[in-house]
Amino acid sequence: MFSETITKLINEFEKLPGIGHKSAVRLAFYILESPNNIAEDMAQILVDAKHKIKFCSKCYNITENDPCDICSNPKRDNSVVCVVENVKDVVAMEKTHEYKGLYHVLHGAISPMNNITAGDIKIKELLERLKDDTIKEIILATNPTVEGEATAMYISRLIKPLGIKVTRIAHGIPVGGDLEYTDEITLIKALEGRREM
Ligand SMILES: [Zn+2]
Repeated sequence: MFSETITKLINEFEKLPGIGHKSAVRLAFYILESPNNIAEDMAQILVDAKHKIKFCSKCYNITENDPCDICSNPKRDNSVVCVVENVKDVVAMEKTHEYKGLYHVLHGAISPMNNITAGDIKIKELLERLKDDTIKEIILATNPTVEGEATAMYISRLIKPLGIKVTRIAHGIPVGGDLEYTDEITLIKALEGRREM
């Protein structure tokens, strides 16, 4: 139906999350019908983003500087590390302006159903950070889903024997919900009401 080049373009858009075939066709034609510079600018911005943005070697948050602005900020409390599943959860926590500690981004949660094991997420990197004895508390802020709870439990079992305080954020976040979509007040309350594991 379409030429090879257009089909290729449509296929690329279809790889993006949330983009079905119809939307991919619409995006492809938007690009084709736009002035040349729109496509060129967009391509350049994509390439730049991939080149400049990397993961912080300490917390695995996305950053342009390594270590990231949070890890290298002397005003942050480096004795507390909040463990989250995704980069978007850091954004949600930062929006509360209440949390002053550091983060550790796991990049996922343990999920046997999806073949995601402890080795697939940044757990050993977290343990590596704990060798530095400035860390006194780990706040497990994984999502209140089956996977998030299992991940919190797994990490807690590994860390507690090291004599580090391990806490879990309180519920209040709806079960099955995502940190990312939780409002700031609920998130502040969940953080304040954290309990020791
Ligand atoms: Zn960092």
